[in-house]
Amino acid sequence: LGILVSSVVIILHSNYEILCVRCSRRTSNTLAYRCEHCGGILQVRINKDFSVKDIIKEEYSLWRYRNFYPYINEDSIISLGEGLTPHIKFSKDLYLKLEYMNPTGSFKDRGSSVLISAIKELIGPETFIAEDSSGNAGASIAAYAAFAEIRAQIYVPENVSGRKFEQIRAYGAEITKVSGERVKITEEAMKQERNKVYIGHVYHPIFRDGIRTLAYEIYEQLGFKAPEIIFLPVSAGTLLMGVIDGFVHLKESDAIEALPRIIACQTEQVSPLYHALKGREYKPKKKIKSIADALISTDPPLLEPMIEKMKRIDGDAVIVNEREILEAYWKLAKKGIFIEPSSAVAYAGYQKYEGKRKNAVVILTGNGLKTELLSKK
Ligand SMILES: [Zn+2]
Repeated sequence: LGILVSSVVIILHSNYEILCVRCSRRTSNTLAYRCEHCGGILQVRINKDFSVKDIIKEEYSLWRYRNFYPYINEDSIISLGEGLTPHIKFSKDLYLKLEYMNPTGSFKDRGSSVLISAIKELIGPETFIAEDSSGNAGASIAAYAAFAEIRAQIYVPENVSGRKFEQIRAYGAEITKVSGERVKITEEAMKQERNKVYIGHVYHPIFRDGIRTLAYEIYEQLGFKAPEIIFLPVSAGTLLMGVIDGFVHLKESDAIEALPRIIACQTEQVSPLYHALKGREYKPKKKIKSIADALISTDPPLLEPMIEKMKRIDGDAVIVNEREILEAYWKLAKKGIFIEPSSAVAYAGYQKYEGKRKNAVVILTGNGLKTELLSKK
């Protein structure tokens, strides 16, 4: 009983917890990517208020917020200088958050830096990490693993090609090609194997928790204020969930008076969250063919927690078609903002949204050099 009581005390006094969104059971295992009891999605919760005085102002990366990451040991931080990305005034009522300026060209570096830092000490020399992504997350995990000198095995579709895949290879990750549907690739990456640690970015709660810093930055860069409305692209949901968690943390800490309205921007073809929030049935096509080729999650594992979070904060969603994405892509390019088409979805959503759009931020997630240049028609 003594042991039991003391472990309960430790959990209660800890300044963070990792809990299951389905059964609320807790774990202290930072390598866990699913609830050990019910298989549910895990979520990190911080039991420490946000406070401006705890920002480390002489640290010019997302690690200026490391006081809000109590599970990270300062000596294990793996940083390529991610975060603190530019936040520019684009027009009278609109700021753009240039997440494509991160070290590997996408916002995923926030998740990778925090996740790799959290688990580095637990990874032995024989161990390798496994991730399933042929896109920005695969490239980002490959880069941070390379810097941390951890072996990374990236699981990709058989017919993979393109610049993001070249980027993964450039960082020296080992590649496993898997045939069949997208879910097969995840299954293969998760399959238990000697010395393998699955850290898939969609499932891993600590990857998502790293995205929280994006909310703190927008708040800080606006002079310690929240914007009224934020537009961001949504596929698997890691960006959406991380940004919401960050702003909810600011609100619960009384750093901001009201949450910004969060608008999930999706494509007509890949829009399960939009359909769920609007109470409409979603039947995706068998074959998705969109210029927004990074937004592919027709059946995201995080859909239920995304819907729950969006309802709780009164978020909204908008869908855009191929022509609207293309127009947004070129409109930004002609203003000096070169992003990948999937990122243009957020700006297209901003242009199309029919609600109030004052004091807005659009999050631009991925660099234009990551995809082939689109033709104008
Ligand atoms: Zn559970």
